Amino acid sequence: MSRDTSANPEGERLQKVLARRGLGSRRTCEELIAQGRVTVNGAVASLGRRVEPDTDVVAVDGTVVAIDPSLVHWLLNKPAGVVTTASDTHGRSTVLDLVPGEPRVHPVGRLDKDTEGLLLLTNDGTLTQHLTHPSHGVEKEYLAEVRGVPTPGAVRALREGVELDDGPTHPAKVTKVGDHGLRIVIHEGRNRQVRRMCDAVGFPVRRLVRTRIGPLRDPKLPPGGWRHLTPEELAALEIAASGGRRGDGAPGRRG
Ligand code: URA
Repeated sequence: MSRDTSANPEGERLQKVLARRGLGSRRTCEELIAQGRVTVNGAVASLGRRVEPDTDVVAVDGTVVAIDPSLVHWLLNKPAGVVTTASDTHGRSTVLDLVPGEPRVHPVGRLDKDTEGLLLLTNDGTLTQHLTHPSHGVEKEYLAEVRGVPTPGAVRALREGVELDDGPTHPAKVTKVGDHGLRIVIHEGRNRQVRRMCDAVGFPVRRLVRTRIGPLRDPKLPPGGWRHLTPEELAALEIAASGGRRGDGAPGRRG
C-alpha cells in the first residue's frame, strides 16, 4: 500500500532529491513536478511534496529513479582471467574481489572469464531487473580482435544475424576497426554471444573488450579499477533500461 508522506516535515523536498540524483537543477526538477511528470508511490506529485528517500518510490515519466541513499552503482573495468559469478566454487578470483565487500552488490549480467571491460555492480534490484529484461536490453558495445581479416561478407552476416545453436542472433551494428578489429553492438545478452557470432562467420575472437553499456563508457578506467556512477550516468542508465531512448542512452522523454 502506498504511503503519503507529503505532510511529513522530516521528509526531503522532492526537487532536492531529484536534483541530487542528476535529473537537472532544482529549478528544472521543480518544472518536472509542476508538469505532472513525477509520481511518488504511484500518485502524481505536486510542488512542495516531501519524500522519505529510503522508503518512497519516485518515478519520472514512468521510470523509477533510485533515490534510496543505501543503493550503490559501481562501474568496474573487469580484467581478463576474473570470473563474474558472485562466488566461485573453484576458488578462482571473482569480480567481487575487486570492489568493496560492503554493501553487498551483484554483477548485472556477465562477462566471461577471458572477456575484459565494463561491468555494472549494484545492490539496486529494480534497475537490475530492468537492465536484464530481454525486451529492454540496453545496447552493449564490444571491441573484438579476431584471427584473420574479416571479409565484407562476414561483416554483413554479423550485421544481419547469424545462426547459433540457441537460435539466430538479432541484427547487430558492426563496423571494422583496422584489419583485425570489429566493433560490435548488440542488445541481447546470450552466453558467449560475441565469441560465438565471430566463430560462426569464421573469424574467432582473440581478445574481447566491452567498451559500452547503454550510456556508460569509460576508456580511462584502468583494468581492475572501479568507480561510482555519476548521478547523470545513473539517470541516463535508468532511462535506457526502462525502454527509453536506445543507443547512447542520453536522457530523453519517454512516452
Ligand atoms: N560476448 C561474449 O562472447 N563474451 C562476453 O563476455 C560478452 C559477450
